[in-house]
Amino acid sequence: MTVEMDKIVSLCKRRGIIFQNSEIYGGIGNTWDYGPLGVELKKNVKDAWWKSVVYERDDMEGLDAAILMNPATWQASGHLESFTDPLVDCKKCKHRFRLDDLDSKGCPDCGGELTEARSFNLMFKTFVGPVEDSASVTYLRPETAQGIFVNFVNVQQMMRRKIPFGIAQIGKSFRNEITPGNFTFRTREFEQMEIEFFVKPGTDEEWYQRWVDERFRWYLDLGINRDNLRLRDHASTELAHYAKSCVDIEYLFPMGWSELEGIANRSDFDLRQHAEHSRKDLSYFDEAAKEKYIPYVIEPSAGADRATLAFLIDAYREEKVKGEKRVILGLQHRLAPIKVAVLPLLRNRPDIVEAARSIAADLRLRYKAVYDDTASIGRLYRRQDEIGTPYCVTVDVQSIDDRQVTVRERDSMRQVRVPIEGVVDYLTDCLNRGELVDLAG
Ligand code: ATP
Repeated sequence: MTVEMDKIVSLCKRRGIIFQNSEIYGGIGNTWDYGPLGVELKKNVKDAWWKSVVYERDDMEGLDAAILMNPATWQASGHLESFTDPLVDCKKCKHRFRLDDLDSKGCPDCGGELTEARSFNLMFKTFVGPVEDSASVTYLRPETAQGIFVNFVNVQQMMRRKIPFGIAQIGKSFRNEITPGNFTFRTREFEQMEIEFFVKPGTDEEWYQRWVDERFRWYLDLGINRDNLRLRDHASTELAHYAKSCVDIEYLFPMGWSELEGIANRSDFDLRQHAEHSRKDLSYFDEAAKEKYIPYVIEPSAGADRATLAFLIDAYREEKVKGEKRVILGLQHRLAPIKVAVLPLLRNRPDIVEAARSIAADLRLRYKAVYDDTASIGRLYRRQDEIGTPYCVTVDVQSIDDRQVTVRERDSMRQVRVPIEGVVDYLTDCLNRGELVDLAG
């Protein structure tokens, strides 16, 4: 089932996942804010990425470079010259289009005549310091990659790294996109999760393939349906100015197959350019082989917002339970914004409330858990299903006598009675295994 984007947008708003930015002023086009649950979800996506590409490997280092850089960076990287979209305007209705998006010669909206294509640079220009003159112009970075390239020697030497090794970074990027849209799919401010992996020339094709496989698997491991994921090779005419080859990992979004992540073989383009422009030696000396070279670079570049959106869409399900619609976000436990919700069956019984609050407090020491008594139990379950909470704990009248609570699983709606003593360990076990654990006996 492919869910319509409108359903996702409305669920996101209703449940505090994603809000329209500056909404009280009527918003600003295609700009979104992550709400209390969205910030958790996106953080979990970024953490899963960092764990997989930094912690679980012995050939990676992390970095957090600044958004503003010396503008010479953008001269060297080619972005000042080539980071452009060809645009055409309709002479009649004045609408503006990306040339790449047009099938016909006339305006798609009114059929009017179009202007010649003009280049439009996608970088946001800004000024540093008190004077707004050409000497103080700089740009908001359109990719995080350049912060990695200019730190290549620092990281390699200070961390005593031998090639092959890579640098990972998560951070904001900015592009003055002509056609933003499709919710958080294409925005002007977004977060990237980028890797620059430095290899010996000649081994680049092999490393390229390895990273394609590795990154494809990451989405599957986090629960994306295999049928909704595919690879698409770029034709040579489509390649970015720096790329030797490039493949996109695409996801079947509601608007069709679209890029989730690009993996490019950037050759030695960037390091060579920066070496030339900065007049610094950015080559690598291989001690063992007594060889000096400029490394090739494989770049898996993912969007944190696009990945988050894909996980949301892929997890969305509607079911009929006893004639009623049940909406579930079947997110993998690692990604779920809230891991456990503790719910009292009766909110006017102080002993039940106290027991529930105390369990929630214990859970909070380990992960994101909530206490909620703002509705009837049926509604509370539905609310938690909709935001993908894997487990609910219900404290009822009997719990006070037998010191047991009910644990309910989101996907199967199965319920088990578990002693209050040890319920925290029990839930942690279930979360780690990704399923309801049967208690012995
Ligand atoms: P597109 O063709 O969709 O504009 P791109 O090929 O320009 O993307 P890259 O430069 O390869 O994108 O950027 C790497 C990743 O960064 C993309 O795969 C995507 O996940 C993310 N990304 C790029 N532009 C945006 C944007 N405007 N909004 C949200 N995410 C983006």
